Order: sequence, then C-alpha cells, then structure tokens
Amino acid sequence: MKEDLSYILNHLGEDREKYFNAVSPPVIQTSNFCFRDLQQFRQAFTDELEHHIYTRGNNPTVAILRKKLAALEGAEDALVLSSGSGAIAAAVISQVKAGDHIVCVQSPYSWTQALLTKLLARFGVTHTFVDGKSMEAITQALQPNTRMLYLESPSSLTFELQDLQACAQLAKERGLVTIIDNSYSSPLFQNPIRHGIDIVVHSGTKYLNGHSDVVMGVICSSREIIKKIFESELMTLGAILQAHDAALAIRGLRTLELRLRRCDESARLIASRLAAHPKVERVTHPLLPGHPQYELARKQMSGTGGLFSAYFKVDEREKMEAFVQELKHFLLAVSWGGHESLILPSVGFYNIPGRQDTHVDWKLVRFYIGLEDPEWLWADLENGLKIL
Ligand SMILES: *Cc1c(COP(=O)(O)O)cnc(C)c1O
Repeated sequence: MKEDLSYILNHLGEDREKYFNAVSPPVIQTSNFCFRDLQQFRQAFTDELEHHIYTRGNNPTVAILRKKLAALEGAEDALVLSSGSGAIAAAVISQVKAGDHIVCVQSPYSWTQALLTKLLARFGVTHTFVDGKSMEAITQALQPNTRMLYLESPSSLTFELQDLQACAQLAKERGLVTIIDNSYSSPLFQNPIRHGIDIVVHSGTKYLNGHSDVVMGVICSSREIIKKIFESELMTLGAILQAHDAALAIRGLRTLELRLRRCDESARLIASRLAAHPKVERVTHPLLPGHPQYELARKQMSGTGGLFSAYFKVDEREKMEAFVQELKHFLLAVSWGGHESLILPSVGFYNIPGRQDTHVDWKLVRFYIGLEDPEWLWADLENGLKIL
C-alpha cells in the first residue's frame, strides 16, 4: 500500500538524527566525499547509488528528494535530473539501441518530439507518431523491431488520453517497455506504475517544485531500471540536480497536496464558467463532462490540477490579441505548475520571424490556474471577454 501522502511529503527520507535534529534537511553543498580508510573506500565502490563518492552520482540532499518522489509514484526508486527534458532523454535512451523503433503518441511535449525526430534519428532509432486515443492505431503502428511505447496522458497541449491499462497489457504481450510523461497529473492524481507502466517521467519544474524557481526532471521505475539509468545515462550525461535545487524542491513538495487541490478546484470553477460563456466555443478539460474521453479520465485520474484550454468565438485575430493583452492577472508565459496563473495563447506563435507555426489555431488559449483567488481571476477574464 502507498505510504500516507502527508508522511511522504513531510517526513519520509529525512533522517534528522544524522544532522543535529534539524527539522529542515541541510544542503550538502559538496562535490566530493572522502573516506576513513581503504576498506570504506572499496565498500563505497561496490554500489555508487547507495554510497557517497562524488555528487554527480549520489548526494544526501538529493537522495531525500529521490526517496519522496519514488514513494509518491509507488515506484521502487527514482532519479532526479537537471530538467524534465533531461529526464525524458535519459529514460528513452536507456532503453533503445540502433535499429529499434519507438511508437509515440502524437504531439508529445515539443522537446520529446525533437528527441525522436532530430537526436535519436541520427543514431538509427526510428519512430511512429500515433493517435494514442485509439488502441487500434497503437497496435497497427507496431513493427517487428518496436521496442518502446511512449505515452503522455493527458497531453499537456491537446489533453488527449491513452488507456494506460490497455497500453501496459499490449506492451507486456509484445515485450515492449512503456514510458509515460506524467507531468500533467503529477503523482497526486495519477500513478501509472499501478496500471503496469514501466517508467514514469516528470518535469519536476511544474507541480513538484511548484514555485517557478527550479528546473528539474524525475524518473521513477523499478530498482533495476533506475540502477541501469544511474550507471549509464545519468553518470555519462551528467545532467544532475544540484543540492541547493533539491532542497528547494523538498520544500516545494511539502505543500504539493495543498497547492494541487487549490489549482484543481479553481481550474474546474473557471473552466466551467468559461464553458457556459457565450464567447466560448468549447473548453477542453479532461475531468469536465463533455471531454471526449471523460469516462477514461475518471477511471485513471483522480484530479487534473490547473491546466486546460479554451477555444473562443472570435472572428478577427486582432480582437484575440487585444483580449489576451487585456488580461491583468494572468501572466503571458510558457510553462505552468507554479503559484502564478498563466495564459499561453496560440496567437502568440503568429508573426514570429523565422518560424512557421501559422497552422496553430489562433482561437485557442491554454490556461494554467495557479493559487490566486479564483474570483479575482474570473473578474479579470470576464472583463477581457467584453473585447471579443
Ligand atoms: C515542461 C514539460 C517538459 C519538460 O520539462 P523541463 O523541466 O522544462 O525540461 C516535459 N513534459 C511536459 C509535459 C512538460 O510540460
């Protein structure tokens, strides 16, 4: 059984007697560790993941964070890296070799897409993007050399889901490894390992740290897979999280549950009001009735957090631009998962010199609802909507 959530967030992994009974863990700001004698030195080298030799490998502050994250996902172990993209790249690379094929959901996170289409393509690893809503499409994309099924459910851009249990079962039958980017749901609202998924990755930059001041990534999996990634990809690529950032993330995690419940409630309130507004064509939020995969979302997710999108009824691009710029309480920015509410309007991707993203639909806005008073946010939106 999963350990009590509040215990994990506030106490698990914190061996306070080791550091003067300080209630907050120390930042062990050191690159190096020394040994009493040769016996201790040799002992450490039997398992670098368990001993302290050098901070690119193991660091005590970082280890506290790893323990909490593994417990949150119900995984045997976890690694933290210096970004979500770094974690995704390390996890994917650890499982493939030249000649292998990856089946990946369509429109994954942009740098995951780049990993497959640009980086891994150069090393002889091929891929097929599929409509992850359809098990038939996934099955049909499998080739004799398919090694991995890469999922992102829900997608943080399109909010499309995959049936995790069905995907895990198919992968087991065909001998594939499954990886999911679980950043959207966080470990609070969806635990893919329980559905049989092998590796869970997160952009810890989002909800896990939650205060928009650390970039980090997480990999959760079996002890065996984590050890393999540690000994090869993590140590070789060296994309580690620094101790100071780990301490900030441990502090951020203390309030994970409080923050996410607040984001979740406020986002549902604002998304429902938007859905009922005459200037809104549709709202895409996995846990509001009307989402095409609502039943599946209810089956495998217990909440959503603050992210959803809205498609507006507007006939001129200039009006859309004016609406976006009229909003005072939503910051215009990429990313999400912090304290502050954000908008990412597709219209922002128009007229960027040297970029051809004009296929994006400019009537679409992605919203992230943070920790502010939802009524204060709603008043701002209602005011802005007068422009459309
Ligand atoms: C932000 C994000 C990432 C990348 O994480 P970084 O920490 O920015 O490298 C990966 N997947 C999803 C769904 C994201 O939102």
